Amino acid sequence: MTSAETLYEVAQRYFPGGVTATARANPAIGHPFYVARGDGPYVYDLDGREYVDMCISHGASLLGHNHPRIRAAVARALELGVVCAYETEHPIALARLMSEMVPCAEMVRFAGSGTESVMHALRLARAATEREKVIKFEGHFHGYSDFLNYSWAPPLDQAGPAEAPIPYRESAGIPPRLDDLVVVVPFNDLAALEAAFASHGQDTAALILEPINYDSGCIAPRPGFLQQCRELCDRYGALLLFDEVLTAFRMAPGGAQEYTGVVPDLCVLGKAFGGGMPISAIAGRREVMRHLRPLGGSELSGTYLAHLTAVLAAHAALETYREPGFYERLAAVGRRFYDGFHDIIERSGVPLRLQHVGPRFGMYFGVSAEVTNYRQAALQNHAMLRRFVAGCIRRGVYFHVAAHHGFSAAHDAAAIDRALEAIEGALGDVRLER
Ligand code: PLP
Repeated sequence: MTSAETLYEVAQRYFPGGVTATARANPAIGHPFYVARGDGPYVYDLDGREYVDMCISHGASLLGHNHPRIRAAVARALELGVVCAYETEHPIALARLMSEMVPCAEMVRFAGSGTESVMHALRLARAATEREKVIKFEGHFHGYSDFLNYSWAPPLDQAGPAEAPIPYRESAGIPPRLDDLVVVVPFNDLAALEAAFASHGQDTAALILEPINYDSGCIAPRPGFLQQCRELCDRYGALLLFDEVLTAFRMAPGGAQEYTGVVPDLCVLGKAFGGGMPISAIAGRREVMRHLRPLGGSELSGTYLAHLTAVLAAHAALETYREPGFYERLAAVGRRFYDGFHDIIERSGVPLRLQHVGPRFGMYFGVSAEVTNYRQAALQNHAMLRRFVAGCIRRGVYFHVAAHHGFSAAHDAAAIDRALEAIEGALGDVRLER
């Protein structure tokens, strides 16, 4: 038995399914990928073997692991006594920095995870508009709160008609009566969105979306589509809510709203925001944010909100993203990686569609045409993806079997070239086993 298999056996005694989060189960290798530590673009397994990390904490570690500025920020919080649940000067400095970087961020509040911030943002939108419904796109993921844990990866035979999907509950335990508050629309389909607004627009508090749909791999909005979302929200008096948990600070200092030029009323920031520490934020127009207590009536509180360790880490992360050349360097790494990957796909003869925006990408095995919505993404061959992931892990490159993958600012040419070599080998395995 390997060290990982032994640990997994023990873990199953204590954790349902042997994992601390559902996503950490790994069907490609039959047990979770156990990591002893991380450094820069690498993670190390229990036996000290080094892997190039192409998951990077599902996007949270955009600076790479063990970044000196994040370490210094956490050390500073320790020096300050790890005070918790008091106001300090530090969240104010962070909020000021955010307001300079993120276009819609006139005011902000913090929470722990993306799930938590999305939940608060939706409640805030309902309070601000005095409406109940939410329109979301199929294949877009917004965390696990009951109100939005719908239709991010529905089985196609239970998803309803393509142009008007039925709300699919992604977890047991969600009260079916909540279905009435969720309207699901195919992404990149203006006619379907207009029809949804025509039927539900007057009752809709918010249209929520991933401005780049990484949770279905990597699906960019069609040219003009986000602008059309903005216009429909304005026409019907609904709020435009960008879930920037994944896109925040990833392709521009102001995230997808800077990158696409479409500014929402509210957004949720997560993952890269904390540089690997657990923090998320709700940011938006003053007029909307003023509905939060104690100014308005919508509740948002908690013992651990704006925890010092995470606030100082987020501040350090944002200052790093803001440094001249940060995104240019990421783009250069991206060119090396994506050009190399496209060449390998061509040489390999494996049917594989690679789509990318900034340092994150999706891979669709068995697909050749551009993927523009969830239903197309769902046709990919998952068995091929699992074979590919297992092949990469065997060769010292870590991929998760999740929808999206990526590199960090710590990935240098050596790490990228190692990743490409493993990818070429793993695609060879996939071709042989087809
Ligand atoms: N929204 C999006 C777009 C995400 O990708 C995720 C997480 O993967 C979430 C929300 C939930 O964030 P968290 O995992 O921090 O709860």
